[in-house]
Amino acid sequence: MPPEARVTRFAPSPTGPLHLGHAFAALTAQERAGAGRVLLRLEDIDQSRCRPEYEDGIIEDLRWIGFCWSGPILRQSDRLSAYRAALDRLGTLGVLYPCRCRRRDILEALSAPQGVEPVAGPDGVVYPGTCRRRPLAEREADDAVRLNMGAALRLAGTLGLEETGPVRAGHHRLDPEWMMAHVGDVVLARRDMGTSYHLSVVVDDAAQGITEVTRGVDLFDASFIHVLLQKLLALPQPRFHHHNLICDEAGKRLAKRDDARAIGLYRAEGMSPADVRVMLGL
Ligand code: GLU
Repeated sequence: MPPEARVTRFAPSPTGPLHLGHAFAALTAQERAGAGRVLLRLEDIDQSRCRPEYEDGIIEDLRWIGFCWSGPILRQSDRLSAYRAALDRLGTLGVLYPCRCRRRDILEALSAPQGVEPVAGPDGVVYPGTCRRRPLAEREADDAVRLNMGAALRLAGTLGLEETGPVRAGHHRLDPEWMMAHVGDVVLARRDMGTSYHLSVVVDDAAQGITEVTRGVDLFDASFIHVLLQKLLALPQPRFHHHNLICDEAGKRLAKRDDARAIGLYRAEGMSPADVRVMLGL
């Protein structure tokens, strides 16, 4: 059998300048592609936070550090109909419900006398299930749509994730009880944009034929949500490679707002792409 042509991707959200952490993620995706292809996707569904000038800067900085992607750039803002179709498909499986709760309602429900201790999941606190019995057909204009995690797990059956990364390499079985307690009913369509990071990323990884998803180890738990959605949507399941995070001197993960580590600044100071690679330990 011919060896699989690897396809990886780098998928930044243009909500700030490209910083060292992104450069590491991009170059890791490129390295993992080997003789295959690495693609570029702009995750710009959150139009309230994305800016065209960040997009231009990211593209320029990526070229400068030697990230050479194949083919056209995929923009999530052009793909809303594909996300809507995936959401409709999940709707027909009976695993979705509309949710009108705002953050404040959720915190109030959790702090009520009979409420449970809040658990932090990959998307904030685990949803207490207030709207779970509402039928999807009764979705109102400003409702979000949530995944009924219990129903989704029952329908999907046994699931696992193939990991090639440095931290947790091997096969990871998805534990339904852990998913219920630590992830819960995640939002798949936000009220303001009709989709979510989880839904869009799964639809696009399949559409772009990604064979290995490379991302930071901070997203390890989120990858279990994606494996579940891939199964429900009958999409191929890629392998995963969760890489280490680039931290500052205090050991804290670099955030987008950490502009002091922006690639553009190193460049303006006269550093070369090779210097940046050395800084990243590459
Ligand atoms: N847009 C996400 C980010 O910038 C990408 C994460 C992923 O690889 O799925 O964190």
